[in-house]
Amino acid sequence: MTDLALRTGSINLGQGFPDTDGPSKVIEAARQALSHGANQYPPLNGTAPLREAIANQRQHRYQTPYNPQEQIVVTTGATEAITAAILALCEPGEEIITFDPAYDVYPAAARFAGARCRRIPLCPTLHGYEFDPQELAAAVNAKTRLVVLNTPHNPTGKIFTSAELQNIADVCIRHNLIAVTDEVYEYLTYEDYEHTPLASLPGMEERTLTVSSAGKTFSLTGWKVGWACGPTHLVSAMRSVKQYLTFASAAPLQDAVAIGLTSEEGWVAGLRRNLAANQEILSQGLRKAGFNVLPAEGGYFLQADVSPTDQPEALDFCRNLPHMGKIVAIPTQAFSAPENTKRYSSLVRFAFCKNDEVMKVAAQRIVTCFQHHR
Ligand SMILES: *Cc1c(COP(=O)(O)O)cnc(C)c1O
Repeated sequence: MTDLALRTGSINLGQGFPDTDGPSKVIEAARQALSHGANQYPPLNGTAPLREAIANQRQHRYQTPYNPQEQIVVTTGATEAITAAILALCEPGEEIITFDPAYDVYPAAARFAGARCRRIPLCPTLHGYEFDPQELAAAVNAKTRLVVLNTPHNPTGKIFTSAELQNIADVCIRHNLIAVTDEVYEYLTYEDYEHTPLASLPGMEERTLTVSSAGKTFSLTGWKVGWACGPTHLVSAMRSVKQYLTFASAAPLQDAVAIGLTSEEGWVAGLRRNLAANQEILSQGLRKAGFNVLPAEGGYFLQADVSPTDQPEALDFCRNLPHMGKIVAIPTQAFSAPENTKRYSSLVRFAFCKNDEVMKVAAQRIVTCFQHHR
């Protein structure tokens, strides 16, 4: 889709990467680190300042304590953290539960581990996306090892409610499962929505690996600096895998990210406001053009239902949109397991992580293209 965007001169609302830079203080810190010799292998676990900054951030924001010596590992993006966690904790033939649609790394990492992925569908309803707790309970068996939870969720924009988190925690505790949480959008929540880590629920800290990254929080997706926090035995298993995946992650970027976590909350608050405003611009355009819009509670993406248009199938819609409207978007079913694609056949994921000028042009293009097309 990114290729198609380039070939057709479209605005790329497919892939989720921002078009404005991260905080200048953080970028300057990386530049300083490059010219002051931070250019050799850092420790496997990550540099001490970054591990300390992560521990402080987790403690202050969520009251979850982690010892930076033994309970944190810095990784090459959240992607490596998730992959290392799954490889470390799942044997061939074991099972992972996650929700559908899902970020594509989870099923891919499950395959690397020889594990099977069971995907609980999130169903679009009037109140947003919901899963059936009975389906979750029924998915657990003797081979189940892990539950992978992503909140705020890509691609739906859902934030799991406290009742849903409690339900997932109960299942993990009852069946002695480990949770791996992907919290890369932990700061990007809108309106009154707030992020609650699964690890902050009673009984979960000792069985949860919490994964996050600098990419989305600081609009530095190209840096690929991520991390995982959790109980010593789980982090130690992850470190053993990371040793042979990458050994260590980019040295000059780590202490710069530490500065971001320590002193750039204000910058991140501004990012969150801009994203909320951009979402509004895009939703208004989509609504004006006749789509049903499911607003994002968090993250980079919103969902639009294209069934009211003359191209009610999201796949056809997304194939034609670059040619008709010079916009690229992704059919939600691309993130779904084959058994669930039908549920999402009229849904399209649009990114709103571009600057407001680009979002205005995109919204205008959508209105012009579809107002007379219904
Ligand atoms: C972008 C994204 C990631 C990737 O994070 P990196 O730090 O770039 O590896 C992981 N999970 C979700 C849900 C994402 O949207």
